[in-house]
Amino acid sequence: MCGIIGYVGEENAVPIIVEGLKKLEYRGYDSAGVAVCGQNGFFDVIKQKGRLTALEARLSENPIAGNMGIGHTRWATHGEPSDTNSHPHVGSQNKIAVVHNGIIENYRQLKERLEQKGIAFASQTDSEVIAQLAEYYYSGDLLDTVIKVANALEGSYALGIMCLDEPDMLVAVKKDNPLIIGVSGHGQFIASDVPAVLKHTNKVCYLNDKEIAVLTKGGARFFNMDREPLSKTPETVTWDIDSAEKGGFEHFMLKEIMEQPKVLRDTIQSVHSGGNKEVIESLEAARFDKLVITACGSAYNAGVVAKYVFERLCRLSVEVELASEFRYKDAIISDKTLVILVSQSGETADTIAAMREAKAKGAFTLGIVNVVGSTIAKEAEVCLFTAAGPEIAVATTKVFSAQLVLLYILAVRFAAALGKMTEEAERGLSAEIAALPGKAEEILSRIDSIQKYASTCIGYKSIFFIGRNIDYAIALEGSLKLKEISYIHSEAYAGGELKHGPISLVEEEDTLVVALSNCGRLRGKIMSNVEQVVSRGAKVLLIGSCQDAGQSGIISYIGLPEVPELFSPSLSVIVMQLFSYYVAANKGLDIDKPRNLAKSVTVE
Ligand code: GLU
Repeated sequence: MCGIIGYVGEENAVPIIVEGLKKLEYRGYDSAGVAVCGQNGFFDVIKQKGRLTALEARLSENPIAGNMGIGHTRWATHGEPSDTNSHPHVGSQNKIAVVHNGIIENYRQLKERLEQKGIAFASQTDSEVIAQLAEYYYSGDLLDTVIKVANALEGSYALGIMCLDEPDMLVAVKKDNPLIIGVSGHGQFIASDVPAVLKHTNKVCYLNDKEIAVLTKGGARFFNMDREPLSKTPETVTWDIDSAEKGGFEHFMLKEIMEQPKVLRDTIQSVHSGGNKEVIESLEAARFDKLVITACGSAYNAGVVAKYVFERLCRLSVEVELASEFRYKDAIISDKTLVILVSQSGETADTIAAMREAKAKGAFTLGIVNVVGSTIAKEAEVCLFTAAGPEIAVATTKVFSAQLVLLYILAVRFAAALGKMTEEAERGLSAEIAALPGKAEEILSRIDSIQKYASTCIGYKSIFFIGRNIDYAIALEGSLKLKEISYIHSEAYAGGELKHGPISLVEEEDTLVVALSNCGRLRGKIMSNVEQVVSRGAKVLLIGSCQDAGQSGIISYIGLPEVPELFSPSLSVIVMQLFSYYVAANKGLDIDKPRNLAKSVTVE
């Protein structure tokens, strides 16, 4: 959510900032802005509601330049998306400019106090209070001011701050929202995420909560809240610049769907050496009497699939909890509980809170994240990394697949360690996992037929996804994907639940039911559900292995390569991702940046 970028150095900051903001567009935003310390000794600020193209048009009418600047894409939380509410915010003395990602929870109290002192606010945002407070505290030392401001703020923030009186110094601080520092020969950067600076440098430092970075043209220094210097050595990012580009595809989402065989291969490979191997080997399955998987959105759906896999293979009780619920429910967990936190960014606010709650209660925490240096990677006791590279499309595809495969691998290892599976069975399932990338390729080679089918589906008012057992689990993800990017109403139901409600919504012509049929012993049951909806006028797309398919023109069928049913979600999900993608593409929608959604959900 929201993107921040800042630069101080030898070059003109404006093009660097605009380009950096483009790389952060995936995070979701409704307005954008840029401010530089201009040559005239004032801030030059251009900001406005809407897409970056609108900002660029304004910038070409009114060019601005400077060697230090900050830019922002805003995802409004307090105050409507408008030009005035866009960031950067400048205090009423016109001395300090700020970009902010997060929510200031005590902004009302702070605002009232400042208003009583005669300070006039221009916007409705919580963020403006930061600029006004900084000016109020400022007495010639920006670092000192930032410490005071950070101590006064409650809530979450990643901040980039400039002061006209110290025009060669950019200061950054964060709490509960991501911020990285990039260092290069020509200048230093702050950014919400690595792709924003990758063109200029692959050397980055990760800021921890309540650490301050002071950047000048010559380098970066770091301090704690007591103003004591901290030493940080930049890490080298292995993501290359191409991985953050579309590479000829019309959308990042399609590119990322197509990357899945490689991502699966790399992730499977990652458990055979290095950090992931060490983590998996260090986990003592017998130490735990309960497993809790907590996450949000698609990562939660990966957890629901994993529950079926773990329970079937390990005979271990697994709870899957939405992180936003887990954090407040006073969970029953102990030092015998393994809590798995799944998050692409490692910065999902609710999942971070769930992790902290789990740790406070003595549970052992395992993160599964895609971003090295993220909060969950740093704070969970141990962490597995999905080898997916940067994921730019808001709707996750390749990272979801990588999360799933890591969870399968973990479940198989646990089952073997707990003596629930022979060595031979373990070898057999591991070979099946190793075969998944090739089978994913096979599905992707049939992309044309999925595209053709999807092009006939844009008119449906409702699309239901049904399945039983593991098919139900992955139906949740199929439905989420579709509604995220195509804006068609969609719900996922366990096949057996149809008759308890949703069947009343089935209407002739207007309803499509996507039925998943990968569970051998339940095939007859799901086919009965298919009959029930067909007889009420719904059209059906059947995904899986089903001999009964094609019995009438109403039922379309996409077969999957042969696969053990527990791992079938990895294949059926690719069909559903492509289906959703092409439905949305046929509707001409902004697939990589669906309305109202953000990639890295850093607010509660
Ligand atoms: N809460 C701030 C606002 O509404 C910042 C939102 C963001 O992170 O983009 O302006």
